[in-house]
Amino acid sequence: MKSNTCKLNTDEINAVAAYLQDRYPQAKTELQFGNPFELLTSTILSAQCTDKRVNIVVKTLFQRYRTVQDYASADPEVFEEEIKSTGFYKNKTKMIIGAAQSILKDFNGQVPTTMEQLVTLPGVGRKTASCVLAAAFDVPAIAVDTHVLRISNRLGLVSLKDPEKIEFALCALFDKDKWIAVSFGLVLFGREICQAKKPLCDKCGIYDVCKWPEKKPLPPGR
Ligand code: SF4
Repeated sequence: MKSNTCKLNTDEINAVAAYLQDRYPQAKTELQFGNPFELLTSTILSAQCTDKRVNIVVKTLFQRYRTVQDYASADPEVFEEEIKSTGFYKNKTKMIIGAAQSILKDFNGQVPTTMEQLVTLPGVGRKTASCVLAAAFDVPAIAVDTHVLRISNRLGLVSLKDPEKIEFALCALFDKDKWIAVSFGLVLFGREICQAKKPLCDKCGIYDVCKWPEKKPLPPGR
């Protein structure tokens, strides 16, 4: 079903999905993880931080903390030091330790596999929950981060600023079996081509469907 804010027709929407699937066939998160709780931890750490920095920090962290119990009983002051370089470390410490305690108490030690349950964990919003669902459990979901927000507006898929509204609009525009590819594909596309400050429009495979009035004119012959 088309969203009423969408400026693309059905063929153009399908072209966006096909392009992303074709260009990023294995698109998944670039965060390192070995199990769902580690992905939850990495995703919380990635707020206002690069995936590269998070991956450096968790390389050591995941060796020190092996189980959900380890996180639940972590010393907050020690944990803060261990994740300090990812920024906002006090809040992130509270969220990660709190999430571990909640998972032990309410979910039998297992990371829950539904959006409704995941968002009951401390510090877990829909974006983090979507990322965990899609990357750890292969459950269709669209995580709206800064790239997805920017590009879906530039393309004309939505004219919205609220991440939750964008998530629902994108889920309505794309078939469910495309959600994961669109979600992670847009992030990679945003890093590689449709960058925030200097979009590389001349390298863009969906230039023709993009409705952004400020997209860069193509050089002659392209
Ligand atoms: S044409 Fe430019 S602005 Fe539009 S999606 Fe492609 S890279 Fe982004």
